[in-house]
Amino acid sequence: MSAPTTAEPAQSKEQSGTQFRCFGGCPGRHSVFEVLYTCPTCGGLLEVEHPLEPLRQRNPYKWQSLFDSRSSTTTWPYGSGVWGLREWVIPELRDENIVSMCEGNTNLFWADRLGQQLGVPDLWIKLCGNSHTGSFKDLGMTVLVSVVKQMMARGSSVRAVACASTGDTSAALAAYAAYAGIPAIIFLPAGKVSTAQLIQPVANGARVLALDTDFDGCMKIVQEVTADQSIYLANSMNSLRIEGQKTVGIEIIRQFDWEVPDWIVIPVGNLGNISALHKGFRLMMDLGLITRMPRLVAAQAQSANPFYRAFQAGFSNKVSVTAQDTLANAIRIGDPVSYQKAVLAIQESDGIVEQASEEELTEAAARADLTGMMCCPHTGVALAVLQKLIQRGEIQRHHRTVVISTAHGLKFTDFKVGYHQKTLQQIACRHANPPVYLPADASAVRDNIDQWLDGQAQRQS
Ligand SMILES: *Cc1c(COP(=O)(O)O)cnc(C)c1O
Ligand SMILES: [Zn+2]
Repeated sequence: MSAPTTAEPAQSKEQSGTQFRCFGGCPGRHSVFEVLYTCPTCGGLLEVEHPLEPLRQRNPYKWQSLFDSRSSTTTWPYGSGVWGLREWVIPELRDENIVSMCEGNTNLFWADRLGQQLGVPDLWIKLCGNSHTGSFKDLGMTVLVSVVKQMMARGSSVRAVACASTGDTSAALAAYAAYAGIPAIIFLPAGKVSTAQLIQPVANGARVLALDTDFDGCMKIVQEVTADQSIYLANSMNSLRIEGQKTVGIEIIRQFDWEVPDWIVIPVGNLGNISALHKGFRLMMDLGLITRMPRLVAAQAQSANPFYRAFQAGFSNKVSVTAQDTLANAIRIGDPVSYQKAVLAIQESDGIVEQASEEELTEAAARADLTGMMCCPHTGVALAVLQKLIQRGEIQRHHRTVVISTAHGLKFTDFKVGYHQKTLQQIACRHANPPVYLPADASAVRDNIDQWLDGQAQRQS
């Protein structure tokens, strides 16, 4: 791999020093190139710590113009939305070990018509699903797999990577591992992921093990199987993924010319992504790039709502539930791993946790699709929660609001087909729009079109 051609020294000494520390505050620091997922003292979550002094050597405006100048270029690896922020991610990674398919830099678009309909004209959608494997999970996996590649290059005992997944994590891990030439093992709950989610790791050559249990059951098995350190565990407990995912929040602010929106609504399951958003904003505050945080809204499916219940109880205790079936299968999680981090995210951002029923998430997704979107069910959860907060007067007309769309709707064609065929259980499917079958007869076709156009005109008047 050739050396980077920007004027920036890629691995300058001042930027070394990124380490794991215990999120709960136990003393001690650990190398991020060690096989370590939890705090060796208390068993709690780890987080990646960035010493601030070296980063403060560059003032906020210089950081902004550096990041602006790199975005969407082809100079390795800075064109990636993650590696364009390299100094804030894992600066110790060598160029040749970075495993990147130019992820991130996803579109943030103005949802003009939907925003008008909902009474919040300054509504924006961050389409994280427009990424390599169709979900935001790519952002975390580029970091994790790069770290593993560097560990293996230095003679570590790691032979493969593995994860349990509700679908999107495994797709991302399989793709990035295949890109790097590292074997990947995927544990899925049999029958609980979409066809697209199942076929992604299959196509990428991973070992796909479909287990007769749910996601939480897969988690337990994968933890046992990876206990001997020869297989590196890529679950959301692994705090390296947070480092990549945190770039979404920073990217949103950059896309708004470094202005902070009022609200960010995000669908949550294991609570890694909302923790990542918060961690990115925290770092921007610490380095003086922003002076306030957006208020974060965690949107849960009612069928798998432990975080919502904990919020209702003032976060007095962590709540676990047995997750029930939901169309939003990527957030069908009863015992969220990143609970502690997410509590901090809500508290520090003056955030809110709200939930949406199956009916609400489905209709919200369909309604948004009618304005040109292609929403996955998780984005439907966020949009349904957005509607609730508008009705409650929390989110107001003049507020700038961003909804994080976490996956591409085309990964969930079963959901879309079921909706438009009205075969989803107990859902009215009010906006169902099935194809019309007609004989090949021009006058019958014309009559049908006229009828339809009249109906459209009536609806609009
Ligand atoms: C993983 C995922 C989520 C939930 O993210 P967490 O970090 O588990 O809270 C939401 N939507 C989609 C599409 C996902 O793949
Ligand atoms: Zn600890």
